[in-house]
Amino acid sequence: PLILAIESSCDETAASIIDGNGTILSDVVASQIDFHARFGGVVPEIASRKHIEAICGVCDECLDAASRSLGAPQLHWRDLDAIAVTYAPGLVGALVVGVAFAKGAAWGADKPLIAVNHLEGHLYANRIARSDIKPPMVVSLVSGGHTMLVHVRDWGDYETLGSTIDDAVGEAFDKVAKALGLGYPGGPIISKLAAQGNPKAIDFPRALMHSGDLRFSLSGLKTAVTTYIQKEQQAGREPNMPDIAASFTAAVVDVQVAKAKTALLETGAKEFCLGGGVAANPELRAAYERMCKKIGVRLTMPPLSACGDQAAMIAEVARDRFAQGKFADLSLDVQAHAPLDEPY
Ligand code: ATP
Ligand code: MG
Ligand code: FE
Repeated sequence: PLILAIESSCDETAASIIDGNGTILSDVVASQIDFHARFGGVVPEIASRKHIEAICGVCDECLDAASRSLGAPQLHWRDLDAIAVTYAPGLVGALVVGVAFAKGAAWGADKPLIAVNHLEGHLYANRIARSDIKPPMVVSLVSGGHTMLVHVRDWGDYETLGSTIDDAVGEAFDKVAKALGLGYPGGPIISKLAAQGNPKAIDFPRALMHSGDLRFSLSGLKTAVTTYIQKEQQAGREPNMPDIAASFTAAVVDVQVAKAKTALLETGAKEFCLGGGVAANPELRAAYERMCKKIGVRLTMPPLSACGDQAAMIAEVARDRFAQGKFADLSLDVQAHAPLDEPY
């Protein structure tokens, strides 16, 4: 089957077409970052409007690109076998654009509709990297809105082992970058700086590292970074940005790796995966490589192109739903929050 998937939960308007073997025929992402950057974060109202402007063009380009991949004549909506869409979680006004568009397309072309949870998409991004990964596995989801360790007992059968009690990891990167006056989004900017800094220069707090459970807390770390900068400035010193970025990253990575290791040992899972925008962080990826090697667990990470938001991961989930015959109807509605433990 050919499935077209649409993703519009935050500030990327994206569409992707996948075939029954999991070959991604097209993967189109229109990022709105430039429109949000000057506000230092995603402005929901702007996101909705930009999705409306972009979605037709993104889907057209997605059909065109898939036709080119197939070396076939122009693909049309009627040539598809299903239309999938992210319905939750995310910004309601952003999700609504994708869902309304997908429903219209499904109705117009008389195709089944598939509803996908965005977080399940981040998790399935690992199957883009390695098609043979098999549950049980532990997945660390680290994105702009979520930070959690998930026990994947089977595809579609998830248990959240622990999550953040305040900020998400990506949010911490964004807030620290904002505090340092570096711009938005913070993750890529801080990564670049951290590469030139000393991760041992400043001893930032590792909150809940030894709490004995799998909860995370990141809001204190952000405060510690801003306090450190203020102290340096008061002492008449120029804060060393690369050292701050590297030390902040080290504090984040140490806790992430320690808790992931605990989750792996507790569940006995032999597969570990990453998902979400922060999964693109080079220090985090390297630290997980070392940890997994040490404890004999196979590590899979999404390709860099599938860490942040795109629709290929949504298409990959939809492929399973299609095979299971699990479809949504035209009463499908969006949800700002949706637990992964009960996927659609
Ligand atoms: P969610 O998936 O929870 O709904 P989201 O879709 O907004 O949230 P993603 O697009 O998955 O989040 O990830 C975006 C986040 O990833 C941003 O906070 C960004 O700063 C962060 N990020 C991107 N690249 C890196 C990097 N190299 N290092 C650290 N963080 C990064
Ligand atoms: Mg985004
Ligand atoms: Fe996301």
